[in-house]
Amino acid sequence: MTHPDTRAVHAGREDLTGLGVHVPPIDLSTTYPVPDLEGGGHSYEVLAQGGRPDDGTSSLVYQRLWNPNVARAEEALAGLERAEEAVAFASGMAAASATLLACVAAGRPHVVAVRPLYGGTDHLLATGLLGTEVTWAEADEIADAIATRREAKGDDTGLVVLETPANPSLELVDIAEVVGAAGDVPVLVDNTFATPVLQRPLEHGAALSLHSATKYLGGHGDLMGGVVATSGEWATRLRQVRAVTGALLHPMAAYQLHRGLQTLPVRVRAQQATAGEIATWLSEHELVETVHYPGLEGSGDGVHPQMQGPGAMIAFMPRGGRAVAAQVAQRCRLITHAVSLGGVDTLIQHPASLTHRPVADDAKPSDRLLRLSVGLEAAEDLVADLDQALRGAADAGGD
Ligand SMILES: *Cc1c(COP(=O)(O)O)cnc(C)c1O
Repeated sequence: MTHPDTRAVHAGREDLTGLGVHVPPIDLSTTYPVPDLEGGGHSYEVLAQGGRPDDGTSSLVYQRLWNPNVARAEEALAGLERAEEAVAFASGMAAASATLLACVAAGRPHVVAVRPLYGGTDHLLATGLLGTEVTWAEADEIADAIATRREAKGDDTGLVVLETPANPSLELVDIAEVVGAAGDVPVLVDNTFATPVLQRPLEHGAALSLHSATKYLGGHGDLMGGVVATSGEWATRLRQVRAVTGALLHPMAAYQLHRGLQTLPVRVRAQQATAGEIATWLSEHELVETVHYPGLEGSGDGVHPQMQGPGAMIAFMPRGGRAVAAQVAQRCRLITHAVSLGGVDTLIQHPASLTHRPVADDAKPSDRLLRLSVGLEAAEDLVADLDQALRGAADAGGD
């Protein structure tokens, strides 16, 4: 089972025929019978420390410690990311929080982060709510930021955090270059926009690839989840934090996520094909000033070699000010004016007001920028909707 498309369909399902079923049974048990005190106690010990259950002989003890549907989805995602393991959480922010807490617990609370990041991640780091301390750095300032911290406070940098393509502006960061600059410090890449279909950060030396599974991985706008693909050692630390803090993905959501992964490669490729058409159309539109889409700018550069394609997220600025941008989002009819992304239907939103609202003013995206998550509709229908919204907004002058 080497081709990723095949892996997406079958991973985490190898035992089903043996079980006499065709789809994974959903296990909603919150507690599990304990065979005897010795065995139960041993299982508890192993699971609460982030270990995996022994081969079928031990009790799973309690849902917060382990759930079979969560484990299936994790196995499938790890396969797609070419990671040793994956650990799933109740949301993308729960996944990010667990990673930061693992750094704090290891006595390495300093984080170097490259902006732009998703507004929630930016907010979590900027507030230091979990006991982390952030240094914001451009990609080429990372080595300096780590060295400066080392001189001032000793060796306590636990993580370098970046997003590529970044939310919302689609800026690209060279993962291998950052990994080189980070030295011994592990690098976390938020891979939500690219998905493992288009980019596998661990192949470029990153230690952790994080997803909001709420987006492309689930793919249908009906589940919240987060997942980190990583080494076995990191996975153990993350499962320990998950068990202790209670950020487990719900088994129903895990089932839906696992199912969503089966169509991930075809969804991403189809959405990407449509996004390419729309990005080109937008870039030629008289009422559009700029379009951000990997490979579109700097004509002929192509997409970054770390990616297998530009993806299906577009950012663009209509001509005119904030009020016109707001009108464009408001006037879309087929396209839904809503946050989130990566689902089968197209969404548009204004990052400065919504997803990136908590970001500090000097790092906030332009208030003229709109973000478009392209779905599976026909390109001609999306183009027609955007065209009427752009024209209507221009005629109204943003009023
Ligand atoms: C949505 C998102 C998150 C947060 O995920 P939730 O599932 O909403 O908690 C993190 N990173 C990126 C890039 C996102 O788009």
